[in-house]
Amino acid sequence: MVRSDPSKLVERALSPGLDAKAIRALQQEIGDRLLAESSCVRDPDFTTLHPDDLRFLFQAYDDRFLSGLCAKAVAPGTMGFRLSRRMTRAAGKATRLARASGKVDYEISVSTVLLFDGFGPSDRDVTVAGLPCGSRLEALQRIFEHELVHLVEYVGWAKSSCRAKRFRTIATRLFGHQEYTHQLITRRERASAMGIVVGSPVAFTIDGKRLVGRVNRITKRATVLVSDPNGQEYSDGNRYSKYYVPLSAITSSSSISKTKS
Ligand SMILES: [Zn+2]
Repeated sequence: MVRSDPSKLVERALSPGLDAKAIRALQQEIGDRLLAESSCVRDPDFTTLHPDDLRFLFQAYDDRFLSGLCAKAVAPGTMGFRLSRRMTRAAGKATRLARASGKVDYEISVSTVLLFDGFGPSDRDVTVAGLPCGSRLEALQRIFEHELVHLVEYVGWAKSSCRAKRFRTIATRLFGHQEYTHQLITRRERASAMGIVVGSPVAFTIDGKRLVGRVNRITKRATVLVSDPNGQEYSDGNRYSKYYVPLSAITSSSSISKTKS
């Protein structure tokens, strides 16, 4: 069988994508089909996964988003799918392996460690590709989409980097991605990346009034205790009022003093 020219795939990858609503509808449809057809993924918060599920996702995404051009551009038997228990930093990985014989193999792998451990019931607020994921299935799809963009680049250009502009353009146009990393990021991790942990001094504005307090807890929002003579007495003997503030609305007050100085 003759390997078809990847130029059609390249052309498709570089052309304008669908609008956000159409992208969402196709992503949803793929998730629903996987739930209906997979022997492992029977629930949006499934607890087992099989490499066949990745193969299914590949076909479903290639058919709907790339008119099947990706599968047509790779030689039969060169596309592999794998689940990894050893990948603890990246949620997914795509590889291109050029052999001395001239044969090129491709593989997409997904970390079951991150997908299952990093998405427990107590820590559901996960972001992948800059998009909030309400279920493990959504996280899997976003991870897979990121790796599929790598695969498209490997097939089309033999090289791929999610730090480069071309990758970002394709990932945004095809799938609406906002961030371009292999990470599965929990809200707590995002907050800590912002320098905000329990005990951090933070500032926020509520009803036009600027308040400064300390973070007491981080879930979907940060619980911030603000010193208040009329507030509730806490175990440290001081009185505080409690505010629930979205993480996006707070700034570390140590960084505020830095910018002032
Ligand atoms: Zn990447």
